[in-house]
Amino acid sequence: MKFLLILSLLLYSALGYDVGNGKSVIVPLDKPYGILQLNDRNITVLPHPVYPSKGFVIVPMDYYEKPHLVHANYTNSIEHTSVEINVTCALYPNEVLSVDNSKVCPPPEVLQRIADEKAEAEHIYKHITPERYWNKPFVRPIDSITTSEYGSARTYNGVLKSYHGGVDFRAKTPLPILASNDGVVVLVKDRYYSGGTIIIDHGEGVYSCYFHMSQFDVKVGDPVIQGQDMGLSGATGRITGPHLHFGFMIQGIQSDPIEFMAQINQLFEPKELVSLSVPPTQNRPIPQSPRSSKIPVETNPLPSLSNLAELFFF
Ligand SMILES: [Zn+2]
Repeated sequence: MKFLLILSLLLYSALGYDVGNGKSVIVPLDKPYGILQLNDRNITVLPHPVYPSKGFVIVPMDYYEKPHLVHANYTNSIEHTSVEINVTCALYPNEVLSVDNSKVCPPPEVLQRIADEKAEAEHIYKHITPERYWNKPFVRPIDSITTSEYGSARTYNGVLKSYHGGVDFRAKTPLPILASNDGVVVLVKDRYYSGGTIIIDHGEGVYSCYFHMSQFDVKVGDPVIQGQDMGLSGATGRITGPHLHFGFMIQGIQSDPIEFMAQINQLFEPKELVSLSVPPTQNRPIPQSPRSSKIPVETNPLPSLSNLAELFFF
């Protein structure tokens, strides 16, 4: 009996992680297989890119998720581990923007186009390609400075509320747009809101997105490699000026691209092995430190005008 108690304690331990709304967290695991059950989601454990006997899961958290504690379960053939995901309120700035009014109140003749483009994007993002196409760190798609961070609470033309689903990079003149990592091009199209758009499938439910481009040098179905030139930035779609909008969709959920890349790239750093050996209850890798320059926004700022705001960046 005592033996069974000790065994069950060994096989049942608790892990704890913090994740802000709109961000994602990577949970390292000792096995490269199994499932993380989280509410109604079953997230497949992925093999570690450097140490194949280890695993990890990516847990993206929706922007509109309110702060609360999520009790998840990691299971494989021999282990059951409780994983507590503490959803925190991320701090995002506010932005007030002016764009062409047709991009806030689109004319009736383009509504079907917008709906079709949204449906096409949702169809792409909900598909999880089982294989992984990349085996290197992700890179930024453009050599430029950031002009607008992910997650900003935005008001367009004084009326329409939304949030920024990616990060913007300055590109006053057309600049080469590079693939963030290896993958397969799954969409190349001029869309109403996002303008010239490329989407890359990196496998395992990870997609990177490049908006407002002016020239395409790849086509759907092309394999691309990390750093490959895919075309030029531009000023197409709903914009306030020329720039590149860059985003990630992970398991169908929009996620902070800069933070996601920072976390996934940590898997390639030697210290990752050290973090795997830290006692689980002390392993809280993403502290949400307050940034004094940011204005806290309401965690659940649902759009006030129809579901149009949901259509903006997809
Ligand atoms: Zn943007």
